[in-house]
Amino acid sequence: MTTIEIKKDKYKKARGNWSRILEIYCSHCGYKLFFYQKDGPGPLKRLYEDRIAGPYNKNKIVCPNCKSLIGSLMIYKKENRRAFLLNTNSIKMKIVNSKKLVNNKKDRQRENC
Ligand SMILES: [Zn+2]
Repeated sequence: MTTIEIKKDKYKKARGNWSRILEIYCSHCGYKLFFYQKDGPGPLKRLYEDRIAGPYNKNKIVCPNCKSLIGSLMIYKKENRRAFLLNTNSIKMKIVNSKKLVNNKKDRQRENC
C-alpha cells in the first residue's frame, strides 16, 4: 500500500489550506502514472513538481506504457515553481479517499466498520 503524506506549506496555504490527493492516469491507455496533491479548488491545468508522488521524467511527463506526452516542464512565474503544463485531455484522474492514505490501525478499523 502506498502511503502519501499531504504536504503542508506556503503553497497549500495560498490555495485556501485545502488539498486532496488524486490518482493520475494516462487518458490514452489508462496507465496509472502517479499520485498528485491538488491544492485548492478549480480545474487541474498544471502539475507542480513538488506535488507529484511517483516516478516521472525530469523535463517532461511521458506515459511509460504508450509513450504519449502528458505534460511539459515550465516555471510557474508567480511562485517561481517548477510545474508541468498538461496537454489537453492527456490525463484522467480519480480522487483518493483520504482515509485510505492514513496507514495506521485505528483508521483501518474504522474503514472496515
Ligand atoms: Zn499511456
